[in-house]
Amino acid sequence: MTSSNPVLPPDRLARFHHDVIEWFGGAARDLPWRRDASAWAVMVSEFMLQQTPVSRVLPVYETWIERWPTPTDLAAEPVGEAVRAWGRLGYPRRALRLHAAATAIVERHGGEVPTSFEDLLALPGVGDYTAAAITSFAHGGRAVVMDTNVRRVFARVVSGVEFPATAVTAAERRIATGLLPDEDAHVWAAATMELGALVCTARSPRCAACPVTDLCRWRAAGYPEHDGPARRGQAWEGTDRQCRGRLMAVLRDASAPVLKARLDAVWPDDAQRERALDGLVADGLVEPVGTDAFALPGT
Ligand code: SF4
Repeated sequence: MTSSNPVLPPDRLARFHHDVIEWFGGAARDLPWRRDASAWAVMVSEFMLQQTPVSRVLPVYETWIERWPTPTDLAAEPVGEAVRAWGRLGYPRRALRLHAAATAIVERHGGEVPTSFEDLLALPGVGDYTAAAITSFAHGGRAVVMDTNVRRVFARVVSGVEFPATAVTAAERRIATGLLPDEDAHVWAAATMELGALVCTARSPRCAACPVTDLCRWRAAGYPEHDGPARRGQAWEGTDRQCRGRLMAVLRDASAPVLKARLDAVWPDDAQRERALDGLVADGLVEPVGTDAFALPGT
């Protein structure tokens, strides 16, 4: 890294890189998408890991990648099978987008996940973050990978605050770019992400086990409390999301179209259930069959 880095003085920056990467060498979890870091494996894992913890992703990922080891394998099946295999991961529109991305990869790139950042970004469901993750983790490229874990670590160590802003700011992106090492940027990306996931967690950071305790500005400042907008809780009971989840579970478990009466039986509030079902149809996650039945799309 150059001596004129605007984010941290060169000696602190060099220590930050060294200490986090060295820690990662001994602490990195043995995850299947790291063992086989093909572009497709990384892509599938990143779609699944959005807003979902590793422990819930692991079994679904293993089954998925065994059944569909390439984009071509997934694209050859009806989209409803992708929705079914998504199981209880939540936010099942991600399954639709992953299937659409696989189809686009087959149509535009002969079944190979593209390597250029622009081609990745042009795929359905692939934004800056996922394109950067594939570039970094699969291709060993130099990209600014900013997930919630990385953002929290940088907010604490560099900016001295407990949490970053709700959405990525230009200032934050400048900091993350300034921190990116010239070499081993892909290891740095994975290491900072792992530090946020395992040590510098949102609610109870384990500072005693942290490799950068002495560099952390939030800690040095005495852990000032977050003064930004309240962070959103994950309400679930009684929500439309819970209702959608119940309806999807019935359809996933069925091998044939399901009569509406069976869906009516799993949620007592008529208005909420109808709204949820309409939403699932509008999202393309469910298809009406005839006048009184529903199924996963294309199944
Ligand atoms: S010292 Fe604590 S708050 Fe600072 S980066 Fe490490 S774990 Fe996070």
